[in-house]
Amino acid sequence: MLVMNLEPTVVCSLPYGVGRRLIPGGPEDAVVDISKFPRLPRDIVQNTIIGSVISINTEEKVATIKTQASEYMHVSYDNVILATGAVPWIPPIEGVLMSCDHRIDNEGFSGEVVCVGNQFVPKASLAKGIYVMRTANDARALDKFAQEAQSAIIIGSGAIGLEVAEALADRGLTVTIVEALPHLTPALDKDMAKLLEKRIEERGIKVITEKQATSYHNGSLTLNDGTTLEASGVVFATGVRPDTRLAAKIGIKVEKGIVVNKYMQTNIPNIYAIGDATQIENTVSRKTYLPLIGTLAMRQALIAALNIAGKPTEHPPATSWGVSTIFDLHWGSVGLTEELAASLGMKATAIVMPVRTREPAMPEGKSGQWKIIFSTELTDSIKKGQILGFQIILDGESPLSTVERFLDMIVRHETIPELIGHFHIHSPSHNPPDDLYMGIMFRYGIN
Ligand SMILES: Cc1cc2nc3c(=O)[nH]c(=O)nc-3n(C[C@H](O)[C@H](O)[C@H](O)COP(=O)(O)OP(=O)(O)OC[C@H]3O[C@@H](n4cnc5c(N)ncnc54)[C@H](O)[C@@H]3O)c2cc1C
Repeated sequence: MLVMNLEPTVVCSLPYGVGRRLIPGGPEDAVVDISKFPRLPRDIVQNTIIGSVISINTEEKVATIKTQASEYMHVSYDNVILATGAVPWIPPIEGVLMSCDHRIDNEGFSGEVVCVGNQFVPKASLAKGIYVMRTANDARALDKFAQEAQSAIIIGSGAIGLEVAEALADRGLTVTIVEALPHLTPALDKDMAKLLEKRIEERGIKVITEKQATSYHNGSLTLNDGTTLEASGVVFATGVRPDTRLAAKIGIKVEKGIVVNKYMQTNIPNIYAIGDATQIENTVSRKTYLPLIGTLAMRQALIAALNIAGKPTEHPPATSWGVSTIFDLHWGSVGLTEELAASLGMKATAIVMPVRTREPAMPEGKSGQWKIIFSTELTDSIKKGQILGFQIILDGESPLSTVERFLDMIVRHETIPELIGHFHIHSPSHNPPDDLYMGIMFRYGIN
């Protein structure tokens, strides 16, 4: 049985629905009709309850569901998979909430929520002009906003902030990005992020870095240096908070997210957890982290299902990854950035290489840059020369297959000398003859 309290949506496509360039039909086209979705079981509709699980009696193995019609249902279970996801997180800045009672009642797992500071509040209590991007309703609100507004400020420049910035620029709005870090997006190091920043500024978006919003009032956003920015609306793309409220209520162990073992089991028998609500170990840093990646959530769903079906299956080693595009400049990042490795006290350095997508004689070739971060020390868990992270910027071409290749190397703890086993396929109509893996090995000094 499936219990859901929001319409199923291809969340990743929502910014493109708002931008309407790639999804001309708008956000509505990202909403999934489960009765027609080919990979789902045919009886999914009969076995779906629209409502919220408000509590679980883990002794009796009974879940209580509050339906859309505010009726209570008690459903007994053999196993539960918690996939409660994450909700937008907004820094607790003066003026982002309307002045009213923001408390959510104890049964309040229904309705859309955001987390402001440490408090989950109904999304409806956000002040006028404040937006987030997580659900179909968020995208609908931004789509309407794009139709009526002249300008927007995006706070936060991770993939979602940048995708929303491009979407609103595509819709003709004047856009400003405010980022607390010294450069755009935490997934890239400063040297790589600068290439993105240049493209974004060339396309007319103003980028303000190393500044934080401190208050909002009626279209005016004040930053920590006292600057005030005026805009028709402000989009907070400042991250998410795992929705662990139900898990915590029923006694499941929660740290950054729900704690699970390699079989996706929680500390309570027959209760599994997957997706954005859960934390796992980053195989590179060996620290627990929140992956917040849709395709990994799907893998975790398969792992939980196989274990429930009596086919013991372990979560494979994983790390973070992300690939996105802004104004036809594609970027990807996998594993640790050089900045993150340094902040974790790891000794690492990087090789940065310019790349070209065709041989020099072909004018259609596009330019880009690779950055390979590797360990310069041997520790209990890291090999010397081990590839810790990879970043790529590529103009006008998808870097996805290269990023996936490095993802495989990174989760398998491969070193730069082991690139000898990764072959380069050349075909003039696809790529240049240079074997970039050899280039990395030479720069590293493989002898
Ligand atoms: C704009 C955007 C773009 C993204 N792009 C990408 C991308 O390109 N690639 C990628 O891999 N990932 C991407 N992601 C991340 C991806 O969407 C998430 O990792 C994925 O949605 C996580 O799935 P989930 O099922 O864990 O959680 P969610 O998608 O958050 O779903 C959890 C659901 O559980 C419901 N729920 C919570 N509590 C209860 C309860 N008590 N009872 C009933 N229902 C409950 C929630 O209302 C929600 O509908 C993107 C995310 C966003 C917001």
